[in-house]
Amino acid sequence: MKVAVFSTKSYDKEFLEAANRSFGHELVFLEPRLTSQTVSLANGFPTVCVFVNDEVDARVLLHLQRHGTKHIALRCAGYNNVDLQVAEELGFIVSRVPAYSPQAVAEHTMALILALARKLHKSYNRVREGNFALDGLLGIDLAGKTAGVIGTGKIGRLVAKRLLAFECSVCAFDLRPDEELVSLGVEYVGYDELFRKSDIITLHCPLVPATYHLVNEETLALMKRGVILINTSRGALVDSQAVIRALKSGKIGALGLDVYEEEADLFFEDLSNQVIQDDVFMRMLTFPNVIITGHQAFFTNNAMQAIARMTLENITAVERGEPPPGLLRWQEARAIGA
Ligand code: NAD
Repeated sequence: MKVAVFSTKSYDKEFLEAANRSFGHELVFLEPRLTSQTVSLANGFPTVCVFVNDEVDARVLLHLQRHGTKHIALRCAGYNNVDLQVAEELGFIVSRVPAYSPQAVAEHTMALILALARKLHKSYNRVREGNFALDGLLGIDLAGKTAGVIGTGKIGRLVAKRLLAFECSVCAFDLRPDEELVSLGVEYVGYDELFRKSDIITLHCPLVPATYHLVNEETLALMKRGVILINTSRGALVDSQAVIRALKSGKIGALGLDVYEEEADLFFEDLSNQVIQDDVFMRMLTFPNVIITGHQAFFTNNAMQAIARMTLENITAVERGEPPPGLLRWQEARAIGA
């Protein structure tokens, strides 16, 4: 199958080419992000392979349909960047990689929590400059704290288990509680109760209309003063302006982000020699109690191998006229709120 691979980085090429030795597809690597401006690069490709910040909206889909594309192969789990309803109406097959390494994201989440709890980002720089003073580095124990996990699917359930291992009391909110977590001691509560009682709040639900700006002025008001807030899910779960106000007032004690609502213009690029124009993002970086990573939670060797393999399996299935193992259906997505 001839595949246009958008948003290609060197590591995408490396892992997809290695996996493709057992599949034999014709992969054409394209550096640009898929948008309505770049979509003509996909003309004549039956399959288009996209990542988290490619824009697969109605306009792009209409163009793709007119120029022969039949399959949108997402090489990620989240699909908030695809207009699934329009895709289905236009007859596209949409596939994704529903699970590659939930451990990778759960472990990165724990890394953010631990780094913030012990101010590792500050001590790393201090020690390199020969400053061994401890003032300002006072940390907190995770043991005995209450952690709230929002969304206990593949990633959230692993985060909940890891927090239990750190002797936290874990409460959670999900539309579908996980019985195993309940048996391990996780308490499912309503949103408000979770916001009120958690010392640490970590987001693992999908970005759907119901969860857009889930962390906002009102929900922040419910939270404990000094709460540690973590988002490794999707940027727009959090209202960045409201978060900045809460950091200024001390309501948020520490913030760990791997995702940002306007990340498409920033993340995955080396902008170190440019003036970054996003004032909201730059303001967040000024706080001493904020750690931001650039959507790297998924980025492990295991995860990249699994993503490449499953993406190519999806493409092979479609080529054979079979439903791909990672088939994404609009009705099913809608059932969970998309
Ligand atoms: P999943 O589908 O396995 O789990 C999501 C859970 O959220 C489900 O249990 C679902 O019932 C629950 N949910 C749905 N609506 C909810 C709501 N309104 N409130 C609370 N819970 C709700 O997904 P996953 O694989 O665990 O991924 C979770 C998120 O992590 C996704 O948004 C995905 O895009 C993101 N993600 C980020 C990275 C990264 O590198 N930062 C990598 C992979 C996935």
